[in-house]
Amino acid sequence: MRRSDHWTILIVPARGGATRPLRVPGWIARATRTCMALAFCAVVFVGWQLQARFGLLGPHVTELGGLDFGADRFGLFMNVAWSRPSPTPDELRRRAAIQRAQKLGLGDRRAASSLLLGMVEPAWRQEAERVRPGDGTLLWPVRSGWYGRGYGSGSGGYHLAVDINADRGTDVLAAAPGIVGYAGRELRGFGNAVLIIHPGGWVTLYAHNASNAVIAGQRVVQGQPIAALGSTGRSMGPHLHFELMHDGRNCDPMPIVRPGPDSYRNYVPAMDPLAWRPGTARPEAVRCKRRMAHPSHADDDEGGHEVDAHAAARSGDGAATARADAPAAAGLDGIQL
Ligand SMILES: [Zn+2]
Repeated sequence: MRRSDHWTILIVPARGGATRPLRVPGWIARATRTCMALAFCAVVFVGWQLQARFGLLGPHVTELGGLDFGADRFGLFMNVAWSRPSPTPDELRRRAAIQRAQKLGLGDRRAASSLLLGMVEPAWRQEAERVRPGDGTLLWPVRSGWYGRGYGSGSGGYHLAVDINADRGTDVLAAAPGIVGYAGRELRGFGNAVLIIHPGGWVTLYAHNASNAVIAGQRVVQGQPIAALGSTGRSMGPHLHFELMHDGRNCDPMPIVRPGPDSYRNYVPAMDPLAWRPGTARPEAVRCKRRMAHPSHADDDEGGHEVDAHAAARSGDGAATARADAPAAAGLDGIQL
């Protein structure tokens, strides 16, 4: 080992003058070099962390971090290099919806039972009225869907809903702006179902969906896809079972559906568009009736829920509809009667 190794640094003045040599012991020069290398690594590391957490490539870096390297060789490093992408706007909205649903008590079976009966708690209605109200009409909720059967059909007129036929997987659209009160598959007979609370205290139901695309607490605008049309629950084939509820009753949505379905012009003759704006009186053409017990024929679709909801109405207790969610329902899901 050489004892007398020195580095000579020449200091050259910018504006001329004599160059001065500066002799530095070798170990200082080497230490300086090492420090600079370490500092460079630190900058790279911090930069990587920052871009992983906040940068555009964050999600991809996180994916890399999630790769299974087999050996644990990288384990420690990957733990140290913990990184997570910042939440996307969609994710932030999802979290807000979950929080809102929790705060308001939406999204569970109790809330669904209440909404099925057209009963909207004041806090729910207030929340729904924070969205921009629509024009008092309902959008036909399946763009290319054709009218199957309507309000008051079925034996005894129990079917207080409109059935809309379309191909499986077709988008089901929110008929009016509002807040999702329930999205799940715990209501017997309905399969995957979505309930939306609208300004003015309307509630709409979309049942038999192949899948739901929204969650409770989420705000929706008119025309927003909320589900894929299907045939889950007690259903004879792909269709949307669409209901409008208001103030404890089921109402005929057709007079305020604008524009109506193409194949349905005869049912709603060319009349002035009818609107039912929040806070205004219900148009006479919109008939409303209490939900009825289903005659329970094996060859009818949508059986149980009407019966169960009716039972709840009699008892006046939303909790009673918990029976509507009995496990027996599970066996019926997906069966096309
Ligand atoms: Zn139906």
